[in-house]
Amino acid sequence: MRVVLIAANWKMHKTVAETLDFARALAPLVRDVSDVEIAIAPPFTALAALGAALRGSRVALAAQNAHFEAKGAFTGEISVAMLADVGCTYVILGHSERRALFGETDAFIARKLRAVQAAGLRPILCVGESLAEREAGRTFGVLRAQLEGSLAEAEAARAAELVVAYEPVWAIGTGKTATPELAQEAHAFVRARLADRFGASAQSIRIQYGGSVKPENAAELMAQPDIDGALVGGASLDPLGFSAIIRFRERRAGVSG
Ligand code: PEP
Repeated sequence: MRVVLIAANWKMHKTVAETLDFARALAPLVRDVSDVEIAIAPPFTALAALGAALRGSRVALAAQNAHFEAKGAFTGEISVAMLADVGCTYVILGHSERRALFGETDAFIARKLRAVQAAGLRPILCVGESLAEREAGRTFGVLRAQLEGSLAEAEAARAAELVVAYEPVWAIGTGKTATPELAQEAHAFVRARLADRFGASAQSIRIQYGGSVKPENAAELMAQPDIDGALVGGASLDPLGFSAIIRFRERRAGVSG
């Protein structure tokens, strides 16, 4: 059975002090939640402090990016060993903002993914189509190419540790969420491609949905058979909102019962 993973992607938000305030506020709100895995990806500057604050808790530390080289003259970059050193479990790779604003290609992401796996960390690989690609009927072609390219160097023996985030670019930060049916269709396609690549292990790979996830829509999305969690941007910046997403099952129970 796949354990739901709800991860916060804070992007370029929060100082160290704000990060620690958040951690203090979140802890009592999720202390009794045992059936959902939680991760937070703060900016690099807050990783060490948050890692120390989360030690011994159920909340995992995640990084928003990594470089594939172990060390050297790569100004501004952070290695996977440095991320492991401050307690990271997960590393987000190939976010659409990295692809669109920083020119990251699938081949570049593939090298990072291999390095993350080799360090014993878990990649959260982001894939997703733009609005123009969806309107041109290219969604599945784009997803297939991103998955094939970004997973080209992936270690099959570690496939079950992989997380994929399906994030339609038109839904990120826009307030427009994919309908649960549309998201499920994309997730089923992603899982089928993962099965082509990794065989039976594809059933163990978590596929998160990302794109304007909020407390109001999380339960419906998570009810879909191939949606195994969420990568949350804007709504993860507030501990109350983030904890409400983590506690999505209560809302679902409330709606149906
Ligand atoms: C993201 O950036 O990964 C994301 C899903 O952002 P938002 O939730 O704000 O749409």
